[in-house]
Amino acid sequence: MPAIVVVGAQWGDEGKGKVVDLLAERSDVVARYQGGNNAGHTIVADGEVYKLHLIPSGILFPGTLCLIGNGVVIDAGVLCIEIDDLVSRGLSVEHLRISGNAHLIMPYHIALDGASERRLGRFSIGTTGRGIGPCYQDKAARIGIRVQDLLDESILIRKLSIALAEKNPILELFGLPVQSPEEIAAELLPFAERLTPYIADTSLLVDEALRAEKRVLFEGAQGTLLDIDHGTYPFVTSSSPIAGAACTGIGVGPRRIDQVLGVSKAYTTRVGEGPFPTELDDEAGHQMMTRGNEFGTTTGRQRRCGWLDLVALRYAVRVSGMDQIAITKLDVLSGFPSISVCVAYETRDGERLTELPWNQSIFHGCRPVYEELPGWDEDLTGATSLDDLPEAARSYLTLISERLEVPISLIGTGQGRRQVIDRVEL
Ligand code: IMP
Repeated sequence: MPAIVVVGAQWGDEGKGKVVDLLAERSDVVARYQGGNNAGHTIVADGEVYKLHLIPSGILFPGTLCLIGNGVVIDAGVLCIEIDDLVSRGLSVEHLRISGNAHLIMPYHIALDGASERRLGRFSIGTTGRGIGPCYQDKAARIGIRVQDLLDESILIRKLSIALAEKNPILELFGLPVQSPEEIAAELLPFAERLTPYIADTSLLVDEALRAEKRVLFEGAQGTLLDIDHGTYPFVTSSSPIAGAACTGIGVGPRRIDQVLGVSKAYTTRVGEGPFPTELDDEAGHQMMTRGNEFGTTTGRQRRCGWLDLVALRYAVRVSGMDQIAITKLDVLSGFPSISVCVAYETRDGERLTELPWNQSIFHGCRPVYEELPGWDEDLTGATSLDDLPEAARSYLTLISERLEVPISLIGTGQGRRQVIDRVEL
């Protein structure tokens, strides 16, 4: 490796958890750099299903140092539940470390997330309702509460009072109950006691690991098109999932990162609102949804499904500098008589575009231009080598790799940890 960023190339839910889980086995450190418990990874290992929201997927390997970086926003209660769940299933969290600089999601963030969505009405974003946006807002406004504030009750209450002086009038405006600094602090302090042993300087830990030539994996949550700067704004999350954000979300220089692995499904999904040029509102989309079990890990919402969009993927390759790509869930596409791939967009004015337009109004009006490829009927579940794939599936992968100008280093062929064609050389 030694330092690799794993990043979502679409609208999240690309199957990064499975990829990270696989690579974590060969990593000494796994460091999550942004997002919060809006994310959800499902990992199937040895017949056990693990659903993780905050803790990096590497936790399933004893000895892998798992870091939650400063760029992550943490709901302390959710983190404690996740720790308890892993421990009750016989796993150790001894190697978990949390940045003291990470921001904490407060009860008023969750209340304001919901209130803001209700106010937006038909213009709502379709957030996960976990308080992510309001927490990042406060971070930028410099009235956030950080993990290190848990270490001193009087500082915690003082900072909560400062924040609530702004938040309570807004809560009242939305017709919601005001919140008290003392009550929030009383709720948080039991979590503080539990989390204190894990608080550390995660940037320093990564630096030490890299100096010792250890293998470090930076784990992104969500995906490129949900990026606050580079995504389909305003239908985005409030953090930056692209590879460059690993530097700020952990505190590591860009020249320390050697590789960027993008993860894409063999088709496209999206949850929440916002434009989605290849979305299917027909039997094919329904088949993808049912066969791919396309329901959110975090909210259980049905995901919108559509064909692979190479225009959007090329954009993702560009903004993160992806030098290899993992294609997950290829097995879900078995049984389609033909496979469509979006290779360009047509604007309302009939113009053909091969790059994602920066102008939102143009993007909203884009229709996909498809190339058709033959489908395949063979069940790919559990294929572990390219030779196991029918010709049509291989042609599909070749087209993706050629158009993206990036090699495909990993192919998912089922839910299980070993159901993968693994060509990554680390
Ligand atoms: P938020 O991150 O909860 O503020 O939600 C903003 C947008 O990002 C919504 O469209 C969510 O559905 C989407 N989103 C947030 N996290 C994820 C994720 O992990 N996977 C897919 N979509 C996500």
